[in-house]
Amino acid sequence: MGKRKAKAKPVAPRKKPKLDTAFDCPFCNHRGSVECSIDLKHRIARASCGECKEEYSTVANALTEPVDIYSDWIDACELANEGVDVRRHRGRDDDF
Ligand SMILES: [Zn+2]
Repeated sequence: MGKRKAKAKPVAPRKKPKLDTAFDCPFCNHRGSVECSIDLKHRIARASCGECKEEYSTVANALTEPVDIYSDWIDACELANEGVDVRRHRGRDDDF
């Protein structure tokens, strides 16, 4: 005669979204393999690819966000590729 426990769905606390720090690597094109970290103490912003180990670092300030580091990296890559017409093909999705 016990009361049936109402199946209460545990209210999942909204997970704090982890700062989005994963990006596609401009070198190996691996998806989400680039992670950015910001060291405000030393004013170093760093992005590195976990796949091909490419790394980029720049100066960080209080306003630096991971995406800034990443876009800086892309800019740097484009500068490095100056003269080479590397238009990346978008829309080629090969999933494993
Ligand atoms: Zn890579």
